[in-house]
Amino acid sequence: MRDEKIIVTGDIISHHARTKLQERGVEIDAIAEIVYDLQHPYAPNLTMVECVESVDAVLVKREIQHAILVGIELDVLAEEGRLSEPLLSLITGDESLFGIDETIALGSVFGFGSIAVTTFGYLDKEKTGIIRKLDRSTDQVNTFLDDLVCSIAANASARLAHRLRDRDEAETKVVIRKPEDEELIG
Ligand code: MG
Repeated sequence: MRDEKIIVTGDIISHHARTKLQERGVEIDAIAEIVYDLQHPYAPNLTMVECVESVDAVLVKREIQHAILVGIELDVLAEEGRLSEPLLSLITGDESLFGIDETIALGSVFGFGSIAVTTFGYLDKEKTGIIRKLDRSTDQVNTFLDDLVCSIAANASARLAHRLRDRDEAETKVVIRKPEDEELIG
């Protein structure tokens, strides 16, 4: 047990979460591509810049950062054989009934509403883009990482869906307001 309590500030956690993702081969752009594919059918003018911005905004959330740190740490410890059995074999073998990888990732989608939850389920099943690559990788243990990426992409996608609706409604309000303004002038 440590005698002194070390206070870990938000910027340290944020930096580490982003660095760990990158070290494990997950770039922000790769997650943004999944977000783009999910939202583009509903928003033809959507840009990759908006998708990257949404992924960045999700990665600011402390709960997501904590999930990333825990999940990737367990993947790395398993890869290095530094966990005890039977947990080691459950994680290295990506045992389908293990479920804790999904549970940790799912825990961090509730903050972004029901669309994030259903999108997480969809991505977990379909495994598009980098998620599939991680799932099939034989170079490293990605038992937790693939689910974490599902979670980040689902959150960024849900966040974007709500923002795009807000933007559409704001534009509609301007159109509705116009005749009112004319009446006031008249
Ligand atoms: Mg998994």
